[in-house]
Amino acid sequence: MEAGNVRTLPERRTLASAARYAERALVLRCPLCGISPIFLALAGTRSLYQWITPLEGCPRCNYPYEREPGYFLLAIFAFNYGAVLTLGLGLWALYEWFLDLTVGETLLWTMVPMATASVLLVRHSKALFLAMDLWVDPLRGSRSDPK
Ligand SMILES: [Zn+2]
Repeated sequence: MEAGNVRTLPERRTLASAARYAERALVLRCPLCGISPIFLALAGTRSLYQWITPLEGCPRCNYPYEREPGYFLLAIFAFNYGAVLTLGLGLWALYEWFLDLTVGETLLWTMVPMATASVLLVRHSKALFLAMDLWVDPLRGSRSDPK
């Protein structure tokens, strides 16, 4: 990847900067500059793997997205599984309290949306993790920083 020519520095750690980073993550933009996309556009992907894999880094500000193998494990465990589990529990409670479904129907109507949401939320989970990492440890994102 060619290095970007725009230097962008992380903001001070405030609630406003956390909200700004999260907002950028929700639209799948670089958490640092907020302009470049984190992932390939849907039309440019040929496989699920390409769709869920972030670019190497931001072409504009050079902020690295994928830093090391396993970097996004916490993103998957915390953000994706957390959101999917919350959805599943919410659906189960909804069916249990308001509908008279059998156990099989409850499992079906809970598991199918959970599996679908799990795939659909992968990109946002990774983007939110990137934003959280930038907010918690802003200097670690710099490629010139030896860590
Ligand atoms: Zn950027």
